[in-house]
Amino acid sequence: MVAIEDRVPSASEEEASRLRLILEATPNAMVMVGGDGRIVLVNGQAEELFGFGRADLLSMRVEQLIPQRSRRAHLRYRTSYQAESAARPMGAGRDLYGLRSDGTEVPIEIGLNPIVIGEEKFVLASVIDISERLAVQDALAVAGKDSLRRSILASMPCSVLVTDLEGRIVAANPATERLLGHSESALLGRPLTTVYAPSHVVGQDWTRGADGEECELGYRRRDGSEVTVGEAITPVVDEAGQASGYLAVAFDITKRLEVRARVAYLADHDALTGLPNRSMLTQHLVESIATAERNGSKVALLLLDVDHFKRVNDSLGHHAGDRLLLRVAEQLAEVSGEKDLVARLGGDEFVMVFSEVGDLQEVRDRIKDIAAVLPTSVMVNNHEVLATVSVGCAVYPDHGETPSNLLKNADVAMYRAKAAGRNNVRWFQTEMLIDSNEKLVLSASLRHALERDDELSVVYQPQVSLATGEVVAYEALARWNSRSVGQVPPDRFIPVAEDSGLIAELGGWVLRRACQDAAALRRASGLPLRIAVNVSPRQFARKSWVGEVQAALDAASLPASALELEITEGILMNDDHDALAVLHTLKEIGTRIVVDDFGQGYSSLAYLTRFPVDKLKIDREFVRRLTTTDADAAVIDAILAMAHALGMSVAAEGVETVEQARYLRGKGCDKGQGFFYGEGAPFDEVLTRTLASIGQVGDVRDLGAEGREQS
Ligand code: C2E
Ligand code: CA
Ligand code: CA
Repeated sequence: MVAIEDRVPSASEEEASRLRLILEATPNAMVMVGGDGRIVLVNGQAEELFGFGRADLLSMRVEQLIPQRSRRAHLRYRTSYQAESAARPMGAGRDLYGLRSDGTEVPIEIGLNPIVIGEEKFVLASVIDISERLAVQDALAVAGKDSLRRSILASMPCSVLVTDLEGRIVAANPATERLLGHSESALLGRPLTTVYAPSHVVGQDWTRGADGEECELGYRRRDGSEVTVGEAITPVVDEAGQASGYLAVAFDITKRLEVRARVAYLADHDALTGLPNRSMLTQHLVESIATAERNGSKVALLLLDVDHFKRVNDSLGHHAGDRLLLRVAEQLAEVSGEKDLVARLGGDEFVMVFSEVGDLQEVRDRIKDIAAVLPTSVMVNNHEVLATVSVGCAVYPDHGETPSNLLKNADVAMYRAKAAGRNNVRWFQTEMLIDSNEKLVLSASLRHALERDDELSVVYQPQVSLATGEVVAYEALARWNSRSVGQVPPDRFIPVAEDSGLIAELGGWVLRRACQDAAALRRASGLPLRIAVNVSPRQFARKSWVGEVQAALDAASLPASALELEITEGILMNDDHDALAVLHTLKEIGTRIVVDDFGQGYSSLAYLTRFPVDKLKIDREFVRRLTTTDADAAVIDAILAMAHALGMSVAAEGVETVEQARYLRGKGCDKGQGFFYGEGAPFDEVLTRTLASIGQVGDVRDLGAEGREQS
């Protein structure tokens, strides 16, 4: 106390004690400073604030209560203040700190008041510790941000875990609880790695560089189950740019994995049957062949093609077709062993692979197993639909060394099985390749032939009325005399044309030529001769087909009723609405529809009532066997009776003997065609013969040529 008075020398005792009382009564720390910067008076709060005793304070300069870095500025400020001497605040916000006896700093705010005692000028500073206020401000700021943060976090659909720098969880949003079943409070303070499924924790740096890249891993739920999540970890940075922790954002990717698995599955499996597809088959073959190469075993590849599948699909619908395929798939799966693979190549083609086979006999035995479950059938609309398969077999290393080679060769063998009447097995033989190469050569040559137009020709085979013995029609039959491969019979080049897509062009060409020739023949002879043209099913499927027929008739000025279109039973059996529509349109145009090779076994007669068929042509096989078996005779009787009842006429083809002719006439068959009446002949020959038969002679060659020039 004494010291105080000592420091304010000019004050009277009364003034000094009054001043002291005022200072002690104020809630702030008060420091009075003389013009020289010396502290002359302090109160108890000042002692408390700065941590110095009163005696110490009174021996200090005021700058000593200021951190070193601010002292010079403070001195300047104080000097200028003393010159002006008006009350003013000092140090708002965070820019002023007091220095405590223990060296720590305290944020302060100061109010300055000039005091003149006697002659001397003093500055009375009221010092306020604002650390608490700042803390509240900070807290408020944080709270403000926090509530925004919280509401964002709460509404986020993905799990968000906030951790400190060590990875301890400091916050979790509601989605985390939904995902894992843990409440936020249960997670707080625990390491982030506790939410990881065991497999993912081991030896993994959980921050992964905190680059925000999504990583797929397992989270463990409260119930112990695992959920796969996509997790991204990013650092949390505070205002000062300091990393304060991490943010782990995770979302359930179960759905995504399912889709991915499905896509992956479909990439190597067939969607309908669930069987491996071609890509998986190839992979499997590569592996099986490698194993066989190592241990000297064999790999057998069976290519199984469902017979007449298209017919089922077309006539009974895709649903029935699918069911049949599923049934076949099931049956094959049933007889396949652990090391076998059953695959679907698409369409009606299946493959079975037997790996690590010892010898060919083993393959034969396995094929017998298949034969025990196939043919198979499914019921569709109360009809039993039967599925047989044609099987081609190729064995590594005997018949091929690579997957593609084996597949190709099994395919060649399978076609042989088809050709041999279906429901059959054929083993690949090298000779078969010569054949399929030949097909390639043939189709290339045929393409050239169609471009050049001088290798192909049409011959006409007469059709005779059995009642009168007169020729009433001719069937146009294609001929090909190839410059490169010689004479090729239609039984060989027609299938090649069908397979290579040339049949439409070839058929169109035959149709136009036949119409021209028929028109010329009718003009020259005055006879109402008809012309029959064969139509391949593939040709029939073309949209442009009706237009082509009409154009050919128009170009030749041939009445439509003179044209008979010979279609196969298959067209009718396919029960294709488009095909039916085409048939009706052709009928409307006025052409006649003839079912060729009738009786080969597919169409029931009842079927025919649904189509505008004018004529049936009994297959020459029946005619051939006429005189040998009574059964065939009975079939012909039935066909005749039924066809006539339905208003159709019947022709028999392949009539070679007088007995056959007599028999057929006796049964009331309308027409006959066959070597007995005449083989196919070129137009000129037919024309000559026709004119001769009606007693007209002349320069028939010229007439023929003239007729054809109109084309
Ligand atoms: P297809 O329609 O059944 O024609 C009748 C076939 O039987 C002809 O054989 C004919 O020469 C033969 N043939 C005629 N009479 C007799 C006989 O008394 N006995 C025997 N065994 N055979 C006889 P081709 O000319 O070899 O034709 C074979 C097949 O080629 C035809 O059978 C037909 O399906 C097809 N074809 C011929 N030309 C064409 C055509 O222009 N377009 C289409 N799509 N197919 C054609
Ligand atoms: Ca025919
Ligand atoms: Ca025929």
